[in-house]
Amino acid sequence: MTTRDLLVIKNLVKRYDGLLATDDLSLTVREGELHAIIGPNGAGKTTLIKQLTGEIPSDGGQVTFAGQNLKRLSEPERSHIGLARSFQITSLFQDFTVLENVCLAVQAHSGHSFRFWKKINDDTTLTEPALDILRQMGLEPRAYIATSSLSHGEQRQLEIAVALATKPKLLLLDEPMAGMSQEDSEKLVERLNELKQRYTILLIEHDMDAVFSLADRISVLVYGRAIATGTPDEIRNNEDVRQAYLGEEA
Ligand code: ATP
Repeated sequence: MTTRDLLVIKNLVKRYDGLLATDDLSLTVREGELHAIIGPNGAGKTTLIKQLTGEIPSDGGQVTFAGQNLKRLSEPERSHIGLARSFQITSLFQDFTVLENVCLAVQAHSGHSFRFWKKINDDTTLTEPALDILRQMGLEPRAYIATSSLSHGEQRQLEIAVALATKPKLLLLDEPMAGMSQEDSEKLVERLNELKQRYTILLIEHDMDAVFSLADRISVLVYGRAIATGTPDEIRNNEDVRQAYLGEEA
C-alpha cells in the first residue's frame, strides 16, 4: 500500500433545504486502500457518493481526484478519468448474456462506436477483456447465460464487473451486500478481498462483519460529518464512535 492520496475531499457541503446532508466533510482515500464509510441511516453516505460521481452538484467544498479538481467535470468525464460507481441492477440488460453486458461496458468506455453489423460477442477486442473481468468476479462459468437467469447475488457481482470494465482508479461500491443471503455476502467478501489487491475501493456498507474484515481504514459519518477515521481497531475502540453509532455491538 502506498500513501499517495488518490481522492481528497475538503470541506464538502450538500444542502437540501434546511438540512445539511453533507456538512463540511473532509476525507482522504489513499491509493491502494479499501476505505469503508459507515454511519447510521440518513448519515449522508449515498449523498456523498452521488456528489463524487457528479450525479448531484455540491454546494461547497472541493474534491480532487488523481490530482484533478472534479468541479467542472460531468459524470461521464469523471468515469473516464477512473472514478467508477458500481451500477445498479436496474441498469443491467436483463435479456442480454452476462458476457454481453460486460462487453457493452468495455465498448462504451473504450470509445468504440457501436458496430451493429457485428455481434459484440464475436469481437475479441471486447470479449477478451470482458472474460478477464468475469474471471476476476468468479462469473466466467455464467458468461453465456441470460442475465435474468442470475441469482440476486450474482447480479450484484455483475454490477461490479460492469464497473470494472471502465478500468477504474477508484471503485465506489454503495452497499454491494444489500439484499444478499449470508452465503452470498461471504462469497462477495472473498471476492472483494482479492479485488482490493488490485484496486483502490471506497465501500459503503451496513454489513459490519464485511466492513471490519475488509477495510484498511474506516470513516464514520454522522449527520454528514466524519466524526472519526482510522483502522478497524481504532474505530472499534473509539469512544465517540461507540456512543454515536456502534453501541456495544462492535
Ligand atoms: P442510508 O444508510 O439509509 O442509505 P445514507 O447515509 O445513505 O442513508 P442519505 O441517503 O445520503 O443517507 O441521506 C442523507 C440525508 O439527506 C437524509 O436525512 C435524507 O433524508 C436527506 N436526503 C437525501 N436525498 C434527499 C433529497 N433528494 N431531498 C431532500 N433530502 C434528501
